[in-house]
Amino acid sequence: MNSQRKHLSVLLSCLVAIGGAGLVVLLFTGGCGSKEAKAPSSVAPAEKGEDAPRVIILGFDAVEPSIVDAMLTAGELPNLAKLRDQGTYQRLASSNPPQSPTAWSSFATCLRPGNHGIYDFLRRDPSTYFPGLGFGVTKHPELTADGAVAKPAHYEGYRKGETLWAAANRHGARCKLLIVPYAYPIEPLKNSSVLAGLEVPDLRGTQSTFFAFSERFTEQENVAGGVRLPLEFEGDTATVNVPGVRHPKTRRFVEAPLEVTVNRPAHTVTVDVQGETANLAQGAWSDWLEWDFEVTPKFTIKAISRIHVLEAGDTVRLYMTCLQIHPRQPYLPISEPGEYAAELADRYGLYRTVGWAYDTKAMQKDEMTEDLFLEDVRQRMTWNETLMIDELELGQFDLLIAGWTGTDRVSHMFWRFRDPQHPLYTKEGAEKYGRAVEETYMKMDEIIGEAMTRLKPNDLLMIMSDHGFHGFRKGFSANTWLVRNGYRDTAYTDKKYLQAYDWSKTKAYALGLGSIFLNLEGRERDGTVTPEEAPALLQELKDKLLTVVDPDTGAKVLRNAYLQSEVYTGAAEADAPDIQLGYADGYQTAKPSAAGAAPKDLIIVNDDKWSGDHAASDVDITSGVFFANKPTAKDAAIIDLGVTALEYLGLPVPETFEGRALL
Ligand SMILES: [Zn+2]
Repeated sequence: MNSQRKHLSVLLSCLVAIGGAGLVVLLFTGGCGSKEAKAPSSVAPAEKGEDAPRVIILGFDAVEPSIVDAMLTAGELPNLAKLRDQGTYQRLASSNPPQSPTAWSSFATCLRPGNHGIYDFLRRDPSTYFPGLGFGVTKHPELTADGAVAKPAHYEGYRKGETLWAAANRHGARCKLLIVPYAYPIEPLKNSSVLAGLEVPDLRGTQSTFFAFSERFTEQENVAGGVRLPLEFEGDTATVNVPGVRHPKTRRFVEAPLEVTVNRPAHTVTVDVQGETANLAQGAWSDWLEWDFEVTPKFTIKAISRIHVLEAGDTVRLYMTCLQIHPRQPYLPISEPGEYAAELADRYGLYRTVGWAYDTKAMQKDEMTEDLFLEDVRQRMTWNETLMIDELELGQFDLLIAGWTGTDRVSHMFWRFRDPQHPLYTKEGAEKYGRAVEETYMKMDEIIGEAMTRLKPNDLLMIMSDHGFHGFRKGFSANTWLVRNGYRDTAYTDKKYLQAYDWSKTKAYALGLGSIFLNLEGRERDGTVTPEEAPALLQELKDKLLTVVDPDTGAKVLRNAYLQSEVYTGAAEADAPDIQLGYADGYQTAKPSAAGAAPKDLIIVNDDKWSGDHAASDVDITSGVFFANKPTAKDAAIIDLGVTALEYLGLPVPETFEGRALL
């Protein structure tokens, strides 16, 4: 592509992203492509012929078909309409449950959960009843006695099965995976480029931990997904020690200082991170700031973060992103080959590396505004778009997959303004943000249009979302239901993590976003249900669960309850829930119950900004969308896309894959 036109298009997308919000200068310096993309060293120079088949899959998390239908009718998605007219538009059957780790794992492996083993954000350990993370875990580095690194940090994933890209690469296909959700941990691939996305943790090993600094805070407070730290000014300057990364041995936080100097009349602050300063007006973002956390004299961990000035006047309030893996010196592998992450920093400047790219927690805790959140989503979607376009233009691939999660996060946070029955719905909010989801879909359509103009004649383009979306007005407390119906210890408890029960009086327990497990003899530590009793008890639980109604409305809370034997058979069935709940629209598992508590109330009104969801919605009403530039078979499922891609490329499909080719 002509480089002048490229620069212009990058500049234009930056300007579009700025919107009119009046933010100052530094905002996009790390965000948009500014240099001509150079072929990364990782990719073999040989290019196949112009008509060699290629497959391009663009994945948008949680795009809801009913909204897409309405927007297509209204003519608001012109590029998707073109694909519908020339090729395919249909629902895409999701995984059960239709939540992201499960569904993207089915996409990656062409397997149902019974074979890939990812069922939920949480997994339980029957030997301790203690929950752990569902997808995988960060293993922090091991140190020698003198503080050097003996074994670097790494990530251990639980997913079983070969990924479609590993299978393609094994047969010589060159792959580009650009921020594909849950394409993690990084796999070794030849002649390929991978930048990881969702599931890359922050420096603390969490999904994302934000920092809020304020004069109003009197002491450090740890909140869900964030840390609040007081700013204590002496004169115009406050110094705060930022607890960054845990020492692998002592588990204490290693700190680094942030110095904040305020000019109250001018409404500006100067932030100083270890000698690097940025002068910021109220409302401005810093560029990426670089941090050194010295764990030992022989081991320093580098991180990056950005600061936004919420207030700089009578009071000072700053928001800081989580501390993220530095792409030039990654604490954990985030790219394949390893240098690719640094090459992208050379190409675009420093960039966001954390997988949970949008700070939903900070907005839930009122440390980030709605406008700032939306602007951040737009900016990041544009960054991913620039990367996708540059990599498309560079060519030298057979399979390119790119992912966007902004469509999902905006839906989770802004659904309250599109559902008049949601407890947090307000008319003013609806006027301002009632079309936030639609606006994000329009951005998606623009991105798809950019890809479409760069296709070669034999390219297969597939657009997919992993599942759909629902409102989340009320939460159902499955553990409370089990208590009330005599299946568990009769004491209600707000204690989390299943640690407050009398297991000798417990026949079944709930954990995670939609799972129920029997307390099974021979499997659970203190099992009470014999294997002989189990089938009848499961059927009884299922039958009773399907009669649960919302006492306020008389509406059914659950559309279905799936038994393990009905839906989860295969290599990973041992980890499956015994019952998977399938909620009706408007309901999800209440948060305390998901964390293993059994609060008094059975139905809990959801007054959280996290106001839409899909995690344990019935799979039958939670399909995603599927578009392609060629006509395809009907009844597409998420496990079919990888098989379709391999067949289109003329590559063998592993026998273990459960999907079918759609072409
Ligand atoms: Zn989601």
